[in-house]
Amino acid sequence: MIEVTNLSKSFNELQAVKNLSFSIKKGEVFGLLGPNGAGKSTTINMMSTILSSDTGSIQIDGNDIKTATNICKKLIGVVPQEISLYDEFTAYENLLFWGQLYGVPAKELKNKIENVLELIGLSERKNDLIKTYSGGMKRRINIASAILHQPKVLFMDEPTVGVDPQSRNRIFEVVETLNQQGMTIVYTTHYMEEVERLCNRIAIIDGGNIIAQGTLAELQKESSVKETVTIQFQSISANQLTALQKRFRIVVQDTLSLTIACDINKELAAIISFCNAEQLQIEDLTLNKVNLEGIFLSLTGKQLRD
Ligand code: ADP
Repeated sequence: MIEVTNLSKSFNELQAVKNLSFSIKKGEVFGLLGPNGAGKSTTINMMSTILSSDTGSIQIDGNDIKTATNICKKLIGVVPQEISLYDEFTAYENLLFWGQLYGVPAKELKNKIENVLELIGLSERKNDLIKTYSGGMKRRINIASAILHQPKVLFMDEPTVGVDPQSRNRIFEVVETLNQQGMTIVYTTHYMEEVERLCNRIAIIDGGNIIAQGTLAELQKESSVKETVTIQFQSISANQLTALQKRFRIVVQDTLSLTIACDINKELAAIISFCNAEQLQIEDLTLNKVNLEGIFLSLTGKQLRD
C-alpha cells in the first residue's frame, strides 16, 4: 500500500530523516516509534504530502506523491499534531467545513458526519462550540474530520499527546474499528504501550534512522535482551540506585520501580541477593518478556522515555 524508499530530509544543517526505506501492507496498522526529536513527524509529514522530501520516493497505492500528488491526497486522511479546528463554531459546523473541503458530495455529507460522530463518541456534543471541548475531545473531532472522505490510508501523528484517559481509550477503539473496516493506518508515538496494543508492524526510529523494524515478536526475537524483571521497592536512596545501576542493566526507571534486563534463569537470584545485601525492601516483583522499551534501550543505550 505504501512504499518509502531512501527518504531524506534536512532542515539547514540538521538531517532530521536519513535515508529511510520501509513498506506498509494494505490493512496494516504500522507504528513509527521513537523518542521526541527522532524524526517521526518529519517522516509522516512527507508521507502525507505536508512536507516535501529532499531525496527518495513515496508511493501510495502505486501513485508517486511527487508526480501524482492530487490522486494521493484523495487516498489519504491526515490527523496532524496541531488541532486544526475553528473554536467559535460547533463540532458539526467544523465537520461540515472539512467535509466540503475534502469534496464529500453534499447529499452524503450529513450522513457521514453523523456516522463519524457516532464512531468517536461525540454525537451528543455535536452542537456545542469547539471552545467548550477538552483537548481530547478536540483531538477526536480532528480524527473525525480526517476520515469523512473515507480515505484508504490514515496518518496519525502522536494522536494521544495531551489527551485525557477517556479520549485516549476512545482513540484506540477508533483506530481498531477503522482498521477492522480495512483502513491502513500509520501511527507515530513515543508510547510503547500504544504500539504494542495497536500496531501489526513497527519501525523503531532514532536520530532520523530506522534502527529496527518488524512485528513485536520479530523484534523480541532479534533483541539481545530477552527478558526483564520489574521490581517495586518500598523506598530507594540515591546510593542504592547508583549501586544497582552499576551492577545491572536498567531498562526503565520510575520513582520506586526499576525494570532490569536479565536472563531470568541465570540472573534473577543474583538480583535478589544484591537487593538483600543493599538492604532494599522488595514490595513486588514481576517477570516479563522484553518489551519495546527494553528493545529500544538494547539498541541505543538510551531510554525511550525522556
Ligand atoms: P519527532 O516527531 O520524532 O519528535 P521531528 O520529526 O519533529 O521528531 O523532528 C526531528 C528533528 O528535526 C528534530 O531535531 C527537530 O528539532 C527538527 N525539526 C523538525 N521540524 C523542523 C523545522 N521545521 N525546522 C527546523 N528543524 C526541525
